[in-house]
Amino acid sequence: MVLGAVTIAIAVSFLFEAWLDRRQIRHVLAHREQVPPLFRDAVSIEDHQKAAAYTVAKLRLGVKRAAANAIVIFLLLVTGGFALIHSIVMMTFGTGYVGSVILVEILVLISALVSLPFDYVRTFSIETKFGFNRTTHKLFLVDLGKSAALTIVILTPLILAVDYAMRQLGSWWWLGVWGIFVAFNLLALLIVPTFIMPLFNKFEPLEDESLRTRIGTLMKRCGFHAKGIFRMDASKRSSHGNAFFTGVGPSKRIVLFDSLLERLTPEEIEAVLAHELGHFKLRHILKRFFLHFGGSLLILACLGWLIEQDWLYESFGIDPSVAHDMPLTGVLLFLLILPLVSGWFKVALSHFSRQQEFAADSYAANHASAKELGSALVKLYRDNASTLTPDPIYSSVNDSHPSAAQRIARLHA
Ligand SMILES: [Zn+2]
Repeated sequence: MVLGAVTIAIAVSFLFEAWLDRRQIRHVLAHREQVPPLFRDAVSIEDHQKAAAYTVAKLRLGVKRAAANAIVIFLLLVTGGFALIHSIVMMTFGTGYVGSVILVEILVLISALVSLPFDYVRTFSIETKFGFNRTTHKLFLVDLGKSAALTIVILTPLILAVDYAMRQLGSWWWLGVWGIFVAFNLLALLIVPTFIMPLFNKFEPLEDESLRTRIGTLMKRCGFHAKGIFRMDASKRSSHGNAFFTGVGPSKRIVLFDSLLERLTPEEIEAVLAHELGHFKLRHILKRFFLHFGGSLLILACLGWLIEQDWLYESFGIDPSVAHDMPLTGVLLFLLILPLVSGWFKVALSHFSRQQEFAADSYAANHASAKELGSALVKLYRDNASTLTPDPIYSSVNDSHPSAAQRIARLHA
């Protein structure tokens, strides 16, 4: 029964995603012959068609990636792959802490191996073909090595902490695990910008004096304090441009991609930063955290009940008594099933995110300039080859940002 339900859930999730992607491909191709009137001054027909081809190429790869993921989940859950790995690990390393760590890391490795060929094709075939890629094969390998090392260094103590909480705290273990989760996320806010990101990129204080002054004035006007304004050498991997804030308290900083600095005028950079400041001032980041933490508490509470049910293990071919000796087993099964269910909440989350983008745009319009933000957005869409004509249904499920046309229409209003 459970296996049948899981099989159906895998198939339905995959088919839904593929259906949306197909809609998007058709919609983009159907609109590739004409630049929408709103963008005719800034976007040439060549740029517009490049964006269409780029969007379609990414979507086609996305469908293959989704198919590969669906197959792997099917093999693990339905055909007994997980039970097999579980029993091999248990017989070799036992049901103690070592066995738990190895079991989790094997699953992480499998998921990384499934992603790797797609990341490779994305970088060296699609991004290269459309002129965005600046990553060399060597840099790709170095990044891979650093990420793998970092994953092991961060994941291992985390697994041990969760496993310890599960073994020691009895039926309230999930509250302890939630505490670990919250603490880990807060710690990440502090250490990611200061210790982790510098492992991958160089951060230099922004040198341009007049731009610094401009940004300084904007921050004063918005009542915002950051510890510094940095230029990041994003262009060593890709020519896509961006700007963001990271960190909290002492690690709070503004980061501008060098690729953004090269392309936008100072007035446009100010408007883009005002948008990012808007996210901060309107407490979007805080709200996302509350949503994130609240959601995870709810999920963990369900998990607290679920992992005590013997049918869960029996359904997937695992001896319940062994699973109780190795409590992470239930968590892992749950994590494999969860995306099949949680994916359906994406519509609501995307909607929530798009509302915040509109709000940040209007904050930028009030504290900088609507006109400059509009022209910056058009440049970013054009230079990133983002489609100007998304399918409305695809967009309402998948897009965290409203379409360029919607954003600019609101800015003009
Ligand atoms: Zn935003």
